[in-house]
Amino acid sequence: MMTEQDAREALVAAMVQMDAGGLNHGTAGNVSLRLGDGFLVSPSGIPAQDLTPDSIVLMRFDGQYDGPVKPSSEWRMHAGILAARQDVNAVVHCHSRFATTLACAHKPIPFLHYMVAMSGGSEIPVAPYATFGTQALADNIVTSLKGRNACLMANHGQIAVAKGLRQALAIAGEVETQAGYYYGTLAIGGPQVLGGDSFDQVVARFQGYGQV
Ligand code: 13P
Ligand code: ZN
Repeated sequence: MMTEQDAREALVAAMVQMDAGGLNHGTAGNVSLRLGDGFLVSPSGIPAQDLTPDSIVLMRFDGQYDGPVKPSSEWRMHAGILAARQDVNAVVHCHSRFATTLACAHKPIPFLHYMVAMSGGSEIPVAPYATFGTQALADNIVTSLKGRNACLMANHGQIAVAKGLRQALAIAGEVETQAGYYYGTLAIGGPQVLGGDSFDQVVARFQGYGQV
């Protein structure tokens, strides 16, 4: 079992990892982990290198929190997802370059490579635009994530969810990789999208993939 301190440290490490890995820059992005009947979320407007475990905010789903540190402006989005999805404990949001480029062009990522399936679907959709930090954005994201692990956010970025933080980070990284492939293929005539039962076949192969 992860203690609250472990979870705080893991969230700081996740923000540092995203920054170092080029998924985020400046104060963009935020992360959360379910804890008991609430959740821990990164604070608003603090660059990754200045984060400490103490600057992570413990919140309740109604938006209440104690202490002097203001939670992420996107706490409604994190709360909404964690409330709607009992299969999800970790949420990762970032403004990675290629995912955000496609999100700004309102271009969902088609099934151009088998690893798109890591997003939980054969296409990575673009959630409709709403102003950052609003309940409208939170609602749009919850809807677009139905039955999936990731989506692009129109004119904003991307978001990935999973049972654990490490998995959510891996999905966000893969979304960025797939966005890069798609962007690249668009420059050379467009992708040859996989069709037929190829998605179902990939999902079946994933069941036995790795050290399982
Ligand atoms: P916060 O610093 O408030 O988490 O905001 C960053 C962001 O990405 C808003 O969408
Ligand atoms: Zn953002």
